[in-house]
Amino acid sequence: MTAASPSCIFCQIARSSTTTTLLHTDEKVVAFRDINPSAFRHYLVIPVEHIGTVKDLQKRAQDYSLVSHMLNVGQTLLTRDAPTSIQYRFGFHQPPFNSVNHLHLHCMALPYIPKWKRVKYSSLGPLGGFIEAQNLLERLKP
Ligand SMILES: [Zn+2]
Ligand SMILES: [Zn+2]
Repeated sequence: MTAASPSCIFCQIARSSTTTTLLHTDEKVVAFRDINPSAFRHYLVIPVEHIGTVKDLQKRAQDYSLVSHMLNVGQTLLTRDAPTSIQYRFGFHQPPFNSVNHLHLHCMALPYIPKWKRVKYSSLGPLGGFIEAQNLLERLKP
């Protein structure tokens, strides 16, 4: 775990020092809309504390409960805002496929808009790519 990085845009959002509307805040995580949405509803849930990527998470209770809390918050928001969605997806980009180096859970209520955007969220097998939150949780389970 590292301290908040002043140049990290997600750290700034987490500390409410931007104009980004926060959909959820608590002492552990905040949620907001993806600025470049790929789906009907597309939110990001991030830890308040600066954690780089999924590679910085370890098989231990603390990391497991953080990720499951992030997933719970995302599920609650999407069930509220997109109750009739055809499908929900929750997951993380693994380096080098991640955009911002502050851990963020993509929470999407499908359909993808436009449709081709789904390629951004496909698993690339051993190469990495996108990992479903559920699979990450299995990996972190202490
Ligand atoms: Zn950060
Ligand atoms: Zn991402």
